[in-house]
Amino acid sequence: ASAHTNASTIFDKIIAKEIPSSTVYEDENVLAFRDINPQAPVHVLVIPKFRDGLTDLGKAEPRHEDILGKLLYAAKIVAEKEGILEGFRVVINNGPDACQSVYHLHLHVLGGRQMKWPPG
Ligand code: 5GP
Repeated sequence: ASAHTNASTIFDKIIAKEIPSSTVYEDENVLAFRDINPQAPVHVLVIPKFRDGLTDLGKAEPRHEDILGKLLYAAKIVAEKEGILEGFRVVINNGPDACQSVYHLHLHVLGGRQMKWPPG
């Protein structure tokens, strides 16, 4: 699990259904699936199906504006489907100092319990 790599990640295998995951929402551009190590009763990851250089948000370029919007809207769809619209959190861990561990951009959608702030 090396940071800042252009190598493919475990998420490519999840997209390809080579390893199982629990899909919450999927369309042609994004996939949302349950985190294997949930930090809340609802913990879903929302990822672009085509990474296109988006190892992390810090790599975003103007060409990514469309998919970035789609990812955020998919987070709302997930929150609605999971019944947590009254209170949920969307997190992007970006880089080593933020404890990013998978270098394929992903939004964490967390909810189903009282969330704390600041997160630490
Ligand atoms: P990060 O730490 O990069 O922000 O988040 C990566 C997330 O991916 C972690 O919350 C971790 O639990 C999750 N994760 C890592 N490997 C797998 C996997 O194989 N399947 C699923 N469903 N989640 C994974």
